[in-house]
Amino acid sequence: MTPSAASALVEKTPLETYVPPAKPSLIGLSRAQLCDRLGDVGVAPPQRKMRAQQLWHWIYVRGARDFSEMTNVSKEMRAILAEHFTVDRPEVVAEQISADGTRKWLLRLPSGDDGQKAHEVECVYIPETDRGTLCVSSQVGCTLNCSFCHTGTQRLVRNLTAGEIVGQVMVARDRLGDWIDRETPNGNRLITNIVMMGMGEPLYNFDAVRDALLIVSDNEGIGISRRRVTLSTSGVVPNIKRTGDEIGVMLAISLHAVRDELRDELVPLNRKYPLKELLQACRDYPGASNARRITFEYVMLKGVNDSLDDARRLVQLLKGIPAKINLIPFNPWPGSKYECSDWDQIEKFSEYIFNAGYSSPVRTPRGRDILAACGQLKSETEKLSVRERNALRAMAMTD
Ligand code: SAH
Ligand code: SF4
Repeated sequence: MTPSAASALVEKTPLETYVPPAKPSLIGLSRAQLCDRLGDVGVAPPQRKMRAQQLWHWIYVRGARDFSEMTNVSKEMRAILAEHFTVDRPEVVAEQISADGTRKWLLRLPSGDDGQKAHEVECVYIPETDRGTLCVSSQVGCTLNCSFCHTGTQRLVRNLTAGEIVGQVMVARDRLGDWIDRETPNGNRLITNIVMMGMGEPLYNFDAVRDALLIVSDNEGIGISRRRVTLSTSGVVPNIKRTGDEIGVMLAISLHAVRDELRDELVPLNRKYPLKELLQACRDYPGASNARRITFEYVMLKGVNDSLDDARRLVQLLKGIPAKINLIPFNPWPGSKYECSDWDQIEKFSEYIFNAGYSSPVRTPRGRDILAACGQLKSETEKLSVRERNALRAMAMTD
């Protein structure tokens, strides 16, 4: 099979184009890009670095939402900035809070040729006793068509910009009141971990994801350590090494099957990058070690991939790779052709890999009441009636 025939099978086309707003937001620019934008509006070269540093601090440490808050920047300078730029984040159109504390935000993004049509993505915050994890999206929809994933069935696809990816973290910190001046006994942040496990395939939007994650992990800004940032991929092999080299975050692989025939069906990208190549890329992942293990995600599908023979083969396949295995109960969606494995079977599977020496937490479903499961983001919100959506919107407006 020629490479182009293979890609026609596994991906849909084409990506929608992004039309930027009239006044661009400074969120998502690197320090060097910030200096360039300052140059564009007449800031002299010797001052650019210092101004960029000030902006960086106000935006990423203090969470300023308006230039008027930036009190150590001269009034004149603030006026110039406000004339040309914003520090806008994606617009929050709905917020849902689950009984277990999970929160989900529906965000609206500009799109389309005329700039009128809007896209929506979701972002989810999951509090746990020892951490708070934010699940972030990298694309609207996904060009890949994994057979168990609802995101893959969505028609519209566009890459998010670096600003829109960082913007999800900003929105979550805004809504949680999680900026530096938050009053806590020890000054700890609520969001301690980031997972790129929302909508989209992050390694098909490599540059924007890299730029965004470098900002999120910058320790003079949002400051979430790279060891606490995990990027999940369905297996875009050529960009796995780049992830280690250029971003340096933790890696998660959506494995889901241990034989090529089945993985071809569940994760059709496997036809382009089969298991052997994928696992070699994992063996070669820069920075992987027993202290920095690669997570292998495995969705439990009843009668499809959940036998003890699959578990045996999984353990064999991962030999020599510093690995953790994350078993995910399948989250059904209307029209999906799979069922979640029985709890009994999940336990047996988990026990087998535990006995083989792997930590194998089963990801507990969180925020079920607000449909916050990864891989199912946004889809359910689309099904709400206009009345229900308006009610959510009203909720989002009252703090
Ligand atoms: N595109 C990337 C990241 C987003 S998906 C990837 O595929 O890795 C995040 C995780 O949710 C992946 O492991 C994905 O396989 C899983 N997932 C998708 N749909 C799911 C569903 N219906 N139930 C359970 N997990 C699902
Ligand atoms: Fe895309 Fe990941 Fe869903 Fe596959 S599992 S369709 S790669 S979002």
